[in-house]
Amino acid sequence: MSDCIFCKIVEGSIPSSIVFEDDTVYSFLDINPASKGHFLVIPKKHVEDISELGDTEITAIFSAIRKLTKALPDVLGNTGFNILMNYGKDAGQIISHLHFHIIPRKKEDGLGIAGWNHLKFSGDHLNEIAKEIAEAIK
Ligand code: AMP
Ligand code: ZN
Repeated sequence: MSDCIFCKIVEGSIPSSIVFEDDTVYSFLDINPASKGHFLVIPKKHVEDISELGDTEITAIFSAIRKLTKALPDVLGNTGFNILMNYGKDAGQIISHLHFHIIPRKKEDGLGIAGWNHLKFSGDHLNEIAKEIAEAIK
């Protein structure tokens, strides 16, 4: 897409700190990282919705994530990761080109990611929700 920052990064017209690329996937450091080594993994093709990706592209994205997360602790000394996608504006997505955030974590780094309030739902309520979702994807 012509006005997409991430498409321009893939084309090379906007510079990026690349960590990995193959035919399908491009991966580069986030310009405003949550922690040292925070990187993004994107499909080279401009898609906004994960349903626009085929199995081959999804496999390539997770294969890159596997490769990079395996290597990073030796480089950075981190002991964990948050892997997340802000999927939709209401979930905090700013750039529409689909992307995964890989955020290196260390014990007590105080980042405040994934520390949400856990609601208490009954087992019956959980089962009802699960049934609705399972039905919807049949
Ligand atoms: P999101 O809120 O999931 O859409 O996050 C978009 C991410 O892209 C943010 O963490 C930004 O810091 C990052 N970002 C924006 N522009 C650039 C850029 N030119 N190079 C690298 N990362 C970027
Ligand atoms: Zn794009």
